[in-house]
Amino acid sequence: MIKVITIDGPASSGKGTVAKILAAQLGFAYLESGAIYRALGWWVNKHYPEQDVSDAQVVDLIASMQLEFKAGLIWLNNEDVTEQLRAESIGMLASKYSSIAEVRARLLQFQRDFAKVPGLVTDGRDMGSVVFPNANLKVFLTASAEKRAERRYKQLHQFDKAVTMGAILQDIITRDEQDSQRSVAPLSYDSSYRVLDNSELSIDETISLIKAWL
Ligand code: C5P
Repeated sequence: MIKVITIDGPASSGKGTVAKILAAQLGFAYLESGAIYRALGWWVNKHYPEQDVSDAQVVDLIASMQLEFKAGLIWLNNEDVTEQLRAESIGMLASKYSSIAEVRARLLQFQRDFAKVPGLVTDGRDMGSVVFPNANLKVFLTASAEKRAERRYKQLHQFDKAVTMGAILQDIITRDEQDSQRSVAPLSYDSSYRVLDNSELSIDETISLIKAWL
């Protein structure tokens, strides 16, 4: 029996950090589904820099992507793209292309294949609603937009001194809107989820609570 824990939520809610630590503690596999959409955003941008692309062009590029998660790094066609995928601009592209229904359909099985014995912890937007609807535990992890912008600022500022709080907050609000209002797999939750607002909680406190639910 494979146990699956899904942690969905808006941008920078801490779901990635929490999911990764939880997976390590439980000895489960970990899938950061956002990285798949970010890799697609990066790959499309590499082929069509600064250009408008059609949905069909985006879908066609998926076949030429060989994405691997190895030793904590993300590899696209044997190139380490871990750092590049962190950029806020790539997050925005990921959000744009992830709203294409055919893109999501093509990436479904790839994601499901990460579920292996003894279990999987995965984070994203639709992991509990679409990819693993029968998960053992579904968490919706959120925090105020201001708190999330503050966390993201701290993360990004290490790599890019030019980022500002105001710009990050605006990006977060835009991305939340795009992800919640799209017609396919919108960011949402229902009564099968445990909702956790971690605005005032530490990572450790968040993990303890999820473990107690488990
Ligand atoms: O989680 P992260 O911020 O890296 O995700 C980047 C973008 O990828 C999100 O804004 C969202 O549009 C998209 N995404 C998605 N479904 C997922 C994970 C991410 O649509 N399961």
